[in-house]
Amino acid sequence: MNKKISLTSLVLVITLILVWQTYNKLHPKKSVEVVKENFEPVGKLPGVKTTYDLSLKMNKDETFNVQAFIDITNTSMDNINSLELYFMPNMFTKENSPGLEHPSKLLINSINVDNSPSTYKLFKDKLTIPLKKNLETNKKIRLSISYSFSLPEEGFRFTKQGENFYLAQWYPMVPTYIEEKGWNKNNYQFKGESYHTTFSNFKIKYEIPKDYTIVTTSENDEFPSKNNNTLSVKDVKEIFIGILKRPSVITKKVDNVQVRLFNFEESIQQEALESAAKSLKYFQSTVGPYPFKQLDIIASDAGMEYPGIVTVDSNGRSNNVIIMTVHEIAHQWFYGVISNDPFYDAWIDEGLASLTTNLFLAGKDEIPNYKLPVKLEPKPSNLPIDQYTQNEYSSYIYGQSSHELLKIFNHYGGRKVMENFLKKYYSTYQYKELDTKEFIRFLKYELGIKEDNFFDRWLLLK
Ligand SMILES: [Zn+2]
Repeated sequence: MNKKISLTSLVLVITLILVWQTYNKLHPKKSVEVVKENFEPVGKLPGVKTTYDLSLKMNKDETFNVQAFIDITNTSMDNINSLELYFMPNMFTKENSPGLEHPSKLLINSINVDNSPSTYKLFKDKLTIPLKKNLETNKKIRLSISYSFSLPEEGFRFTKQGENFYLAQWYPMVPTYIEEKGWNKNNYQFKGESYHTTFSNFKIKYEIPKDYTIVTTSENDEFPSKNNNTLSVKDVKEIFIGILKRPSVITKKVDNVQVRLFNFEESIQQEALESAAKSLKYFQSTVGPYPFKQLDIIASDAGMEYPGIVTVDSNGRSNNVIIMTVHEIAHQWFYGVISNDPFYDAWIDEGLASLTTNLFLAGKDEIPNYKLPVKLEPKPSNLPIDQYTQNEYSSYIYGQSSHELLKIFNHYGGRKVMENFLKKYYSTYQYKELDTKEFIRFLKYELGIKEDNFFDRWLLLK
């Protein structure tokens, strides 16, 4: 900006203020100042409180034994008469994934409820356990499940790749519970995330053969790791475990967070670590604090976010590897700390992760409105994920949502407005869950948007 002009305008502003103050002194009147009403965030209630105590043993023959104790407290007003859990390893057995050459083997040894043996039904990824006595409000039960499994090859997130084992969604996971509706458990999808859990505390005892190192959601992982240990993690939606055979690792410390990068190609690893560190710094200063002192990034065949740890497909073009790395890191805020149900409102965390990745990569520049690579038929971005084909899923959930959000932020002032919004969003909704309606209510409040016509074209607002 030209200095002379800014000096002139400063003088003008000061003069106006003085005139206004003098006028007010001479003409005292009742205050007509419009006070911005306070905004009360409304988080969705999870309906249950869950703590997990998991023991995992990996045997030399690459099979795993698990003893899971899960304490479930009913925090809803309903009486609950049966439990429904996600049990995703079952999606990769011969029965449910006949196309896999090396499917998973899964065997449930026993299920107990409050120390007495229980019947159960396992269908696809749904484990149903009837309760002999209703679980009343604020009452707790202890579920004990003992099982063993092997990992499939070419699975989806839950998979073995070369000599490395990726344990995603490997234990029975408790869904959220919606009053008067029941367990919020939808059918498994081989796209996006069809599972939704609330923030929980975990204790994990593990034992792995020598030559392997374990890399987990916990912020206290060491390298190389011990072959047996107990970890505890608080306030996370899930626990991911990677068991890697003699991995390569490079690390960098940024803002007291140790960033560790595992098994990336040598040609890209320095650049990927650099981008990871810089984006972590940017997101911490722009959005809010990253909640752990360690962030792990593991090369894999797909990009995916978990609390404290992400996987990245490191085989693509270097540009794509960097974008994917930053995108998965952005999820530590949008998914990891602020929760939304990825079956119904996947666009919220995917749209924000995509948008903030662009924001970071643009440096200090504004992001110009851009055209989507393909012309999309009108369809909302907030339909349940089973209503999109595989291709549509990424176009509407990632593409359309980030594109439309960018247009709105640009209309209301661009980068600064976007960054301010993100900071407020984080401080308002951290460790809460929100849905489309609540997100839009907050966005309208923060930006002073009065009409819904910014959203009509791409969101279904009931
Ligand atoms: Zn994502």
